[in-house]
Amino acid sequence: EEARTQAAEPIDVIEGPLMDGMNVVGDLFGSGQMFLPQVVKSARVMKQAVAYLLPFIEAGKDPAKARAKGKIVTATVKGDVHDIGKNIVGVVLQCNNYDIVDLGVMVPYADIIDTAKRENADIIGLSGLITPSLEEMATIAAEMQRSGLDIPLLIGGATTSKVHTAVKIAPRYDSPVIHVLDASRAVGVVSNLLSDTLKDSFLAEIAEDYEDVRARHEARADGKGPAKLKDARAQSPEIDWTGYTPPRPKFLGLKVFDDYDIGELEKYIDWTPFFRTWELKGVYPAILEDPKQGAAARDLFADAGTMLEKIIAEKWLAARAVIGFFPAARVDHDDVEIYASDDRNDPAATIHFLRQQMHKTDGRPNHCLADFVAPKDGGPNDFLGGFAVTTGIGIEKKLAEFEADHDDYNGILLKALADRLAEAFAERIHERVRREFWAYAENETLENEDLIAEAYQGIRPAPGYPACPDHTGKQDLFALLGAEQNAGITLTDSFAMMPASSVSGYYFSHPDAQYFGVGRIGRDQVEDYAKRRGITLTEAERWLAPNLGYSP
Ligand code: SAH
Repeated sequence: EEARTQAAEPIDVIEGPLMDGMNVVGDLFGSGQMFLPQVVKSARVMKQAVAYLLPFIEAGKDPAKARAKGKIVTATVKGDVHDIGKNIVGVVLQCNNYDIVDLGVMVPYADIIDTAKRENADIIGLSGLITPSLEEMATIAAEMQRSGLDIPLLIGGATTSKVHTAVKIAPRYDSPVIHVLDASRAVGVVSNLLSDTLKDSFLAEIAEDYEDVRARHEARADGKGPAKLKDARAQSPEIDWTGYTPPRPKFLGLKVFDDYDIGELEKYIDWTPFFRTWELKGVYPAILEDPKQGAAARDLFADAGTMLEKIIAEKWLAARAVIGFFPAARVDHDDVEIYASDDRNDPAATIHFLRQQMHKTDGRPNHCLADFVAPKDGGPNDFLGGFAVTTGIGIEKKLAEFEADHDDYNGILLKALADRLAEAFAERIHERVRREFWAYAENETLENEDLIAEAYQGIRPAPGYPACPDHTGKQDLFALLGAEQNAGITLTDSFAMMPASSVSGYYFSHPDAQYFGVGRIGRDQVEDYAKRRGITLTEAERWLAPNLGYSP
């Protein structure tokens, strides 16, 4: 208000001191002297100031249009709900005077293409977290080509990579397709792309680099492919089931936790990924003392603590969960049958897992999660568990408040904390499973750092993660748990969970159970898997695309 009364025109406040300030922020961030949380907070000052000035600015004078250096349409692709990274990139680009048209999450390609055309956008930016989004991005590139667009396409998100972008997406679109590693790179890429003088050399460099990536990828693909499924199965780990009695859960069937106490979860939070979300790279708590990032990390951590108190005291979020234990047995090498009761005749469901097909010469086994369950044929009675937990119930209300307040900082902070609470909830319930419900480790007492290091007996692998990379596995798991009715979690058409702050998986109790990555698999296994699941080979290849050790 003080600046406005001193300025000749209200818009001068934006184009003068506010823009000058943001330029300083942009430069300091670019040179590594300022960190993301500080940038997002600075952007909040800018946005709130603009919102204040807007009513004073003459109709027809749009400050965004007046200053924008270019327009970028951003979207989280269809089937995916994760948008923290996309939102951060949007804020950083806005700070640098780019106009952002953010289409939100689960956006079909037609909306993205239509908007880009209607808005006369300079660039499209796609974001996604889960692996099925990689396929969707390749589809969007092909559709952009078909629709005649020729603006650059930027790709970002946790499972995206330069290799995938170069090999799978770029060949589908004649105009530039560029992988953006994180928010700190976004400004550099965009400013190169929109610069008359730098654009050509930048694109030539990218083209050469991506050509190299493709050549190296092909050379690797020429090497020896995955081992034969038959041989991999012959190399299953030998768990000795004779004389082993699998622990029996305290109950069979489901247990529902409605409105779980979030206050109990705070001490189970793994903070390291929280700082990574904000691009502060280091391990908690050491990061708080880091000579360079420490001050930014401490401020962020203090803000997180304050918000966490409110989340708990004012019940901003509700936590719901369902867990279940079922009689189970390994069948046909890689499957696990689930039975409704101890009378193990009628399988209620069959869960299909994938096996590593690696050429291991050192005698190490080729793992499959089914190996950790006792075989139906001659094995003792065993059990499998499942869980689905969420801490995202009710988050929309607060997010809408922050949005109305032009407060990206607190919006992103809340989403990041809700994600942390969901993982903490999974950790806490797993601990209670080991101590109370499956009760095979009643005397376990581990510190949070031991929990984070997975120092306990048993595992909780999640469909879509390396040991069971097929996201469609959540369908069967959710059916078993009644996760939609019992925990309020639904699945998108790419099998992302909604609310986004949710975790689901299986429980294995055996002491030898361990996490691993399935890695590259061969056509023989994909054919076998498709048959077991009752889907076509093409469909299986689509969902398993990131794991295919051959070109379909
Ligand atoms: N402490 C971390 C846990 C991250 S891993 C955090 O708070 O973020 C997230 C989840 O992925 C785990 O809880 C587990 O369910 C699952 N997971 C981890 N490694 C896996 C693997 N190799 N295969 C399948 N699931 C895995």
